[in-house]
Amino acid sequence: MSIKKIDHLGIAVRSLDESIKYYETVLGLKCEHREEVPSQKVRTAFFAVGEVHVELLEPTAEDSPIAKFLAKNGEGIHHVAFGSDDVVGQLAQAKAAGAQLIHETPIDGAGNKLVAFLHPKSTHGVLTEFCQPKGGCSCGGDHHHH
Ligand code: ZN
Repeated sequence: MSIKKIDHLGIAVRSLDESIKYYETVLGLKCEHREEVPSQKVRTAFFAVGEVHVELLEPTAEDSPIAKFLAKNGEGIHHVAFGSDDVVGQLAQAKAAGAQLIHETPIDGAGNKLVAFLHPKSTHGVLTEFCQPKGGCSCGGDHHHH
């Protein structure tokens, strides 16, 4: 079990369409994937930046965690996601080391991944995600083949 890389940065936005426009026209990146994630009540859009992705998150409901984040903080960086080969193991280690878990067990995330979060109160201010590609996908978790 180990963290392999920063998989993506999650950024909370009010409008996917408006923010995609920014990333495409100002930064010249290309949106490669859009997906709704019902378990987290968000719509997401992904941009590849080298090996790391930027994940834009727009809430789909008022009780979405992203809606609450936007109300409190406005748009901005929401979480940092560490790619691991064993999310369950990461959670167990984090818990044993005293971190507060938001998810005791991984949930379904975007891009056919298992994800779980640590509470920012116990991570020095950064909402921390662990993610791991689900089995059955031969691409190794980097979804460049949409
Ligand atoms: Zn994420």
